Amino acid sequence: MFFSSITFVVTLKPEPSSMSFINKSVLLFLITNLVILTSFAQKSIKLSPDKQAIISSVDKHSAELIALSDSIWKYAEPALHEYRSSKILMDYAGQQGFNVQRGVSGMPTAFIASYGAGRPVIGILGEYDALPGMSQKVSSKEEVLKEGAAGHACGHNLFSPGSLGAAIAIKELIQQGKIKGTVRFYGTPAEESIGGKIYMARDGLFNDLDACFDWHPDYQTKADLDGSLSMVDFTVEFSGISAHASSNPWDGKSALDAAQLFADGVEMLREHIRPTARMHYVFSDGGDVPNVVPAHAAVWMWIRDRKQADVEKIYERVQKIAEGAALMADVKYKITLNVGDYEMLVNRTGNMALNSNLQLLGPITYTPQEISFAKEIQRSMGIDTTGIKGVPLPFKETVDDPETGSTDVADVSWCTPDISLIVTTTPDNVPGHSWAVTSSCGLSIGHKGMLYAAKAMAMTMLDLYQQPELLAAVRKEFTEKKGDCVFKAMLPDGPPPVPQK
Ligand SMILES: [Zn+2]
Repeated sequence: MFFSSITFVVTLKPEPSSMSFINKSVLLFLITNLVILTSFAQKSIKLSPDKQAIISSVDKHSAELIALSDSIWKYAEPALHEYRSSKILMDYAGQQGFNVQRGVSGMPTAFIASYGAGRPVIGILGEYDALPGMSQKVSSKEEVLKEGAAGHACGHNLFSPGSLGAAIAIKELIQQGKIKGTVRFYGTPAEESIGGKIYMARDGLFNDLDACFDWHPDYQTKADLDGSLSMVDFTVEFSGISAHASSNPWDGKSALDAAQLFADGVEMLREHIRPTARMHYVFSDGGDVPNVVPAHAAVWMWIRDRKQADVEKIYERVQKIAEGAALMADVKYKITLNVGDYEMLVNRTGNMALNSNLQLLGPITYTPQEISFAKEIQRSMGIDTTGIKGVPLPFKETVDDPETGSTDVADVSWCTPDISLIVTTTPDNVPGHSWAVTSSCGLSIGHKGMLYAAKAMAMTMLDLYQQPELLAAVRKEFTEKKGDCVFKAMLPDGPPPVPQK
C-alpha cells in the first residue's frame, strides 16, 4: 500500500530537528482517524446488521485483496496470458471455501468460483488482463517500469480482487445462514482482445444467473447507466497475382488495388450511416516491396453503433463493398469475423438499488498526500489540477453522454440482468488506457476504490438476495428490454484462439 491514511504518518521519518513536522503528523493522524470514526458512526446508524457485516468482511480481507491486486499489477499479463494472475485468484477463492472450476470455455485462464446452493444465483465478474506496451511505475510522471512490457492501464488488477471481495462477503452471509442461495465469481480473461466473456456467453455460462454485477475503475463514482456500443471486428483479405512491377505489371493482379478500392467504398458509405455509427480501419497488409505487384493485402476494420442490429446492417453493406472491390481489381477476397460485442443492456432498476447503497456508503476519502499526488499526475498530463473526488455522482434520469467504447460485459447483459458500477481509482479526468491509470491503480488511490467497489456491489447483491420483489423487478426490466431478441455471440466458429504457452 503506497499511501495509507494511517501508516503513511507513522512510517515517515521526520527530520530530528523538525518538531513542528511531528506535531503536524500527530494532528493529521488524529484528524484522519476522527473523520474515519465519525463517518463510521454515521454509517452504523443507517446500515442494517447484514450490510455492516459486509463492510466488516471487506475490511477484514482488505490486506489480502490489496496484495492480490498488487501482484496482478506486477505480473501485468496481457490477454490470454493471465496464468499467474488467474492462479492467485483461483487459489484464494479456493482457500475461502469456493468451489473452483478452472479453465472454462476452452480458456485456461477463465474460471468460475461458486459457493452455496439453490436460488437466487447471483454472479459477479472479474477481469485481470493488462494492456500491451503500457508498463509504468507508480509515479506521478510518465516513467516506464519495463520497456515494451504490458501494464494495467485499464485497472483490471483492481477489478478482479474487488469483485472477489464482494463475493466473499456474500459467501460469509450464506455460510452464517443469513441469506440463502448461490454466489458465483466469474474469472473472465482477455477483455482487451478477444473478449473472454463472449466465449463464456456463447457456452451459456451466464444463462442460469438471476442477475450479475460488474464494476470498472474510473475517475468517477456512480451507478453506471452510460451503456456501451455494439461493435464488430473483422479482417478483409485480398489475394491477387504478383508480377514485376516494372517489367511485366500487365501480368499482375494487385491485391493492394482492391484494398484501396475497398477503403474508398467505405469512405463513400460514411456519408450514409447514422451519426452514432463509427467505422475505423487500418491497412494491416499492403504487400511487401514497391517493385512487386502485391499478391496479398488486408484491411482490419471495426464498425460500431448503439445497437447490434444497426452494426449488423452496416457490416452487410461493407461486405458488399469488399466483394465489389475484389471484382474491380479481379482478385479474390475473404472476410474473417474476429469478434463482436453487443451493446450494454442497461438495467435501470438494478442501478437504482446500487445508487442507494452508494449514498449509504458516502464518498471515498483521501489523505492530503493522495490529493497532492493526484494533482501531480494531472500536472504531468497537462490537465486541470482538480485532484481526486470519490463522491458518488447523483443518479441521472437520462444519459446525455452515452459511452463510446465497447466491452464484452455487454454480452453478459443479454444473458442475465447486469448491474454496472464505476468507482474512482484515478485523479479527475485522467484518460483511460493511459500511463496515469497504470500508476494510480498500483497505489492506495486505486486500492481504496477497489475496496469501496467490493462493499457497494456486495450490499446491492444482498438487496437482491433479501428482497425477492426487487429481484423480480430487475428481471422484469431485463425481459422487457431484451424483447424477442435471441443473443447470438458474434464469434468465429471454433475454440478461442489461445496461444501456445
Ligand atoms: Zn477495462
